[in-house]
Amino acid sequence: MSTDRPVPDARDVVVRRQVEDLLAGPLPLPIVQAGHPVLRRRAEVYTGQLGERLLARLVEAMRVTMHAAPGVGLAAPQVGLPLAIAVVEDQWPVDDEAAAARERRPVPFRVLLNPVYEPVGDERVAFYEGCLSVHGWQAVTTRWRSIRLRAQDETGAAVDEVLTGWPARIAQHETDHLAGRLYVDVAEMRSLSSPEESARWIAPSPVEAARQLGFDLP
Ligand code: ZN
Repeated sequence: MSTDRPVPDARDVVVRRQVEDLLAGPLPLPIVQAGHPVLRRRAEVYTGQLGERLLARLVEAMRVTMHAAPGVGLAAPQVGLPLAIAVVEDQWPVDDEAAAARERRPVPFRVLLNPVYEPVGDERVAFYEGCLSVHGWQAVTTRWRSIRLRAQDETGAAVDEVLTGWPARIAQHETDHLAGRLYVDVAEMRSLSSPEESARWIAPSPVEAARQLGFDLP
């Protein structure tokens, strides 16, 4: 947000120290895995606890960590921080068929503070999805095709926009992290694929996976 608050309270001091300790270590930051309680807590609303400079340093470390993983989104709880901060960026080249099926289009790097979403329309779409905190596993996850996303950016400016397709999926996944939810909470468990088997289901549509693994698509 814009400025350091003059009288930080004790909780702010604790979280600032936690961030400073994390940033004193090497990059990329370690990504915590499912089973860590921080992934199951509702993240604290970001109200400027870190101040402008420390937030900028954290955001840069999260960007480096997301790229190194590699991933298209990273939420602060995934690096062990209980704050409602996420970064997203999708610049990965994908073939035209996969991109078209998933409505995947480039998402420039951006910071989302305190994101919330609501569906726009009632259309839902199902694709394989994964998470850096459930390393290597994938499962078919049904998401809203279009959402209205509201948040603040790193300057505190309001974000209010409608997203469709893969960018909407990324925003839903990262926002869910900040509410203590993981994609496996809502994914089709019969589709769950281990790191060893995930390559079977790289086709853009999960229709064949549904047939062979025995689950229904929306
Ligand atoms: Zn995730």
